[in-house]
Amino acid sequence: MDSFVDQADLLETKPVVLNVLNIAKPAEGQPALLSYDEVSTLFHEFGHAAHGLFSQVKYPTLSGTNVPRDFVEFPSQFLEDFSLDERVLANYAKHYESGEAMPAELVQKIIAARAYGQGFASLEYIAAAMLDMRWHELGAANADQADVIGFENQSLKADGVDYELVPPRYRSTYFAHIWQGGYSAGYYAYLWSEVLAADAFKAFYEQGGMTRENGKRFRDTILSRGLTKDPMQLYIDFRGHEPSIDALLVRRGLK
Ligand SMILES: [Zn+2]
Repeated sequence: MDSFVDQADLLETKPVVLNVLNIAKPAEGQPALLSYDEVSTLFHEFGHAAHGLFSQVKYPTLSGTNVPRDFVEFPSQFLEDFSLDERVLANYAKHYESGEAMPAELVQKIIAARAYGQGFASLEYIAAAMLDMRWHELGAANADQADVIGFENQSLKADGVDYELVPPRYRSTYFAHIWQGGYSAGYYAYLWSEVLAADAFKAFYEQGGMTRENGKRFRDTILSRGLTKDPMQLYIDFRGHEPSIDALLVRRGLK
């Protein structure tokens, strides 16, 4: 997702937003079919698009997806889960020859497969995110003089994530995201956004699922607000309280 024009009352601009999806070119005469990964990416990016399109703020710098990195992936990851909602599936998940709906059993298998390897994935991610924080707490001068491997080992131990079988996703020496990649002390952002997304999705379904009322509340409190309030306050406006990590653990099959 990207934005050509950001919505802003000040400039009287309406949002112009684009989604681009690269998919494998089918063989001659065959239809282009999407893998589940591609479907989930499509929903994800459309979540960003909705964030840009429903923006209703005064200043362009606070508009749409111009929000911190640990919040911007919330609407997108939230939308991903709707790809497996029964009513949504009925619209798109049809056999390309027979037109038959996807069998419920297959849907259950997709949901079960999402939990595969999540213990490993979650720990390696958390280890990397904690390491990122530790480095950026050091300050530039101290970081320059640090014994890189020694500091890394010490940090992983101190955070209780020094598990030999699950090394951090990136070792300090090639953890490019956190040095020049823009993630400095922000590598945790995807997982934090997922905490919000999982908790919000749970809230949606506790309150009746895909109703106009629920959609409107999400639009009014989150999608239209950009960065006109502290992101946690936006979340509380939607949810009534701060998120817990419970729904994330269930989403990842860890609970
Ligand atoms: Zn995204």
